[in-house]
Amino acid sequence: MDGSTLVKDSWRGSVFVDGDYRPLAQRSGLDVLEKATGDVLGVAGLGGVAELEEALRGARIAQPDWAAQPYTRRAELLRAVAALLQESAQSFTELIMRETGSIRGKAEFEVQLATEELLTAASLASSVTGEILPSSDPHRFSVCERIPVGVVALITPWNFPLILATRVIAPAVALGNSVVLKPSPETPFSGGLAIADLFAKAGAPAGLLQVVLGDQEFSEALVAHRDVDMVHFTGSTAVGAKIAEVAGSQLKRVSLELGGNNSLTVLDDADLDTAVMIGAWSTFHFQGQTCITAGRHLVHRDLFDGYVDRLAERARAIAVGDPSREPVGLGPMINQRQADRAARILHDSVAMGATVVEGGVIDGLFFRPTIVTGITTDMPLWKEEIFAPIAPIMSFTDDDEAIELINDTDYGLVNSVLTSDEERGQRLARRIRSGMVHINDATCIDEPSAPFGGLGRSGLGGRIGGAANLEEFTERRWISAQRGSLAYPY
Ligand code: NAD
Repeated sequence: MDGSTLVKDSWRGSVFVDGDYRPLAQRSGLDVLEKATGDVLGVAGLGGVAELEEALRGARIAQPDWAAQPYTRRAELLRAVAALLQESAQSFTELIMRETGSIRGKAEFEVQLATEELLTAASLASSVTGEILPSSDPHRFSVCERIPVGVVALITPWNFPLILATRVIAPAVALGNSVVLKPSPETPFSGGLAIADLFAKAGAPAGLLQVVLGDQEFSEALVAHRDVDMVHFTGSTAVGAKIAEVAGSQLKRVSLELGGNNSLTVLDDADLDTAVMIGAWSTFHFQGQTCITAGRHLVHRDLFDGYVDRLAERARAIAVGDPSREPVGLGPMINQRQADRAARILHDSVAMGATVVEGGVIDGLFFRPTIVTGITTDMPLWKEEIFAPIAPIMSFTDDDEAIELINDTDYGLVNSVLTSDEERGQRLARRIRSGMVHINDATCIDEPSAPFGGLGRSGLGGRIGGAANLEEFTERRWISAQRGSLAYPY
C-alpha cells in the first residue's frame, strides 16, 4: 500500500480548530516523510499567529461548558473515542509504522495502550470527590473541591506519538479541561490530526481538542500565551528547561516529562538467558529511541563475559530494514540528525578507548544494534542520553558499586534490577534515585494505572497515570461558609 493513502485529504495542509479542518496557505506546509523510504506521506499545515489565537480562543470558550457537563458525558466521549480507535486500529497501526519507522508490534502496542489510556480516563471522570475539612470555628462549614486547571497546552515528541498525546488528552478532558495540542513535526498525523479525527467523530464539542502544528516560534508563543493555564511537555531536557524558564517567569503551571539515562543492572544471582533477553529488548526496541530505553548495562563481573557474548549473538540475529516491507526487528532512525548524533556519541567514545563488540554499522538511517565494552564514566556513551540501539556494557563487583554507578547521572527516569532474590532487588530499588524502578523486568514498561515520571533532569511537575492524574489535571479550591454570627474587631 502507498503510505500517502493513509493520510486523509482533510488533514493535508490543515490545522484542526473548533471542530473543523482549516486548510492553510500552501506556503505554510511541511513535508512529512515516511521514515524508511524518505517518500512524502503528506504535507502538514503549519499554523501561525492567527491559528494560535483562534485555537486558544476556542479552547478557552469550550472549557467551562465542558467542565459543567455531567461526568457521565465526559466518560461517554472518552469511551466513544476508545471504540473508534479500536475500529481504526489497522489504519492507525500502518500510519504509525510509516510515520515513525516502527515495527508492527510497537505500533500495535501504541494503539492498545492508547485505548487503555482512554478507558482508564473515562472512569477517572467519576472519581473526582471533595473533602469536608475540619475547622477551628464550629460555625464555619469548610470544603475542598477539585476544579479543572483550564486550558492545557500539550507539546509532544515523535517517538510514541499516539500514546504520548493520549496519555495527557484523555485525563485532562475527563477532568474538565480543554487541550491545545502541538504535535512533533515528525509525526503530526498519528500524533495529532488522526487523534482529532477520532474526537470529532465521537462528538467532542468544538474547541475541546485543538490540534495545530507550528514551528519553534509558534511553540514558544503557545507556551508563553496568557490563555494557557498549564503547559504539559514531553520531550528533551534541553527544550524542557527552556519551557520551565518561561513558565516560571509567568508563574504558570508546568509539567515536564523529559529524557533519561537509564541503567539495566544484572546482579550475580540473575538468570543469564533471561537477563540477556530483557537487556536486548530494553535497548534495541524501537531503535533505542524511547525515554525509558536502557542506555547502560551494568553486569556483575562473574556474568560479564557470558552476558556480552550472548547479547552480541542476539544483536547479530536482528534484521534491520523497512518495517512496512520486510520482516525486521528494527526500522530506521527517525531522521538524519538523530542518526548522526548517535554516531558521534559512539565514535567519540571509541576514540576514548571503548570497543565495539557487535554492530556499529550505520547505513543512512539504518543503525545496526550495537554492543560496546571498555566503557569509562567520562565517555559520551556513559554521560549522554544515547537514543539509539547501542548497549554500552560495564561490570561491577558488588551491590554498593552498582548503586554508585546507577546513581551517577543527573537524570532519574527509570532503572531495572535483575536478580533471583526479589527482596534483594527491593532493597536496591530503594537506594536508586529515579521516579520508576522495575525488578526483573525491562526498563521500557508503561501502564495507564501507574505513575510515570522522573526525578532530576528527567522531569518536573507531577506524574502521569492512575491516581496521579487527578493531581496533575486539577486544582484544589477551598470554599467556606460561615453559619454563625461574627464579631471581628472592626
Ligand atoms: P524535542 O525536545 O526536540 O521536541 C519535543 C517537542 O517540543 C516537539 O513537538 C518540538 O517541536 C517541540 N519544541 C522544540 N523546540 C521547542 C521550543 N523552543 N519551545 C516549545 N516547544 C519546542 O524532543 P524530541 O526529539 O521530539 O523527542 C525526544 C526526547 O523526548 C528525548 O529526550 C526523550 O527522552 C524525550 N521523551 C521523554 C518522555 C517521557 O515521558 N519522559 C517520553 C518520550 C520522549
